[in-house]
Amino acid sequence: MGYRTAVYFPKDGEPAMEMATHRMVYDWNEPAGITRLLQVCDVITTEWENIPLDFIRELEQRGGIVRPGSKVLEVAQSRFAEKIMAQQLGISTTSTMFIPAGYDIASVEGNWAEFLPGILKTDGLGYDGKGQYPVKTTQALIAAHKKAGVGCVLEKRVKLKTELSVLVARTADGRVSVSDVVENEHKDGILHTSSWPMIFTHQGNLKVVRDAAVKIAGHLELEGVLVMEFFVDEGDNVLFNEMAPRPHNSFHGSIEAARTSQFEQHIRAICGLSLGAVEFHSQFEMENLIGGTWEEDWSVVLMDEFARLHLYGKAESRPDRKMGHVTRLKR
Ligand code: ADP
Ligand code: MG
Repeated sequence: MGYRTAVYFPKDGEPAMEMATHRMVYDWNEPAGITRLLQVCDVITTEWENIPLDFIRELEQRGGIVRPGSKVLEVAQSRFAEKIMAQQLGISTTSTMFIPAGYDIASVEGNWAEFLPGILKTDGLGYDGKGQYPVKTTQALIAAHKKAGVGCVLEKRVKLKTELSVLVARTADGRVSVSDVVENEHKDGILHTSSWPMIFTHQGNLKVVRDAAVKIAGHLELEGVLVMEFFVDEGDNVLFNEMAPRPHNSFHGSIEAARTSQFEQHIRAICGLSLGAVEFHSQFEMENLIGGTWEEDWSVVLMDEFARLHLYGKAESRPDRKMGHVTRLKR
């Protein structure tokens, strides 16, 4: 698109650094780093929602244009804040309660049973099923909460029929696009495949999901893209799960299968350009390549004229780490 880029991160050698015009290896809140970033950038964005809020606020206070900004990131850093926001907007969620760090569960006559069997999740910093503890009894809950050692949410386990996600983009002046809805399959808490069109739920759920996306984007005054994840339970009810204010794994198929990829849409949104058309033009399945199982002979994938291989260039392959993905367009 003709833009030059800078990548800022406290550690060198991250894959994105290879692509950047300017590589900025500074700690968060390092004055020289902040000054340089503000000098070089017309617009600043994030591809990870857990960047310290102090850093983002400092950039904003010094006149930096940060999209999405601290208002969005603050909500996205807390599972509980996300769910409360959704509920306030009339969007159904799983039953959830917040349990602060150090809270003495044993001494309180709580309505714990209502949330069991459930999943205890760290309120912040969780991804790919990390920081999650399945719990069936109050005893197990107490042990898990102690082990986590931080503020957590307790969620009732939903009997899942399927999982869905949707991508919404919004510009600073309020223009919005909403994607088609993809269907997600997880294995051990890690996204395994995302595909379109949906087959395990009915079209009526599309509207619930897409309306929720528009509501949340407007409420947050989003600038950029945001992906929302939903559960569909056995009664076909749609429940908001969580959101990520950035391009998201479940929309990697948009690179090949949509009229505008999520990455281009993000740049269009934060740079104030017109938003691209978002529909999928091809049916597809995107499959993640997880470390430990991914060091294969890629020639099979490369020989398939309908498949596209993406390897991220991460330095170390671990059994629970996303190393790349393959998108297969359907014939
Ligand atoms: P993250 O993606 O941040 O690791 P999620 O809350 O999305 O955390 O959980 C990962 C996956 O674990 C979900 O996509 C879903 O498959 C499963 N899961 C999480 N919470 C529940 C729940 N309350 N009931 C049933 N399955 C769940
Ligand atoms: Mg998730």
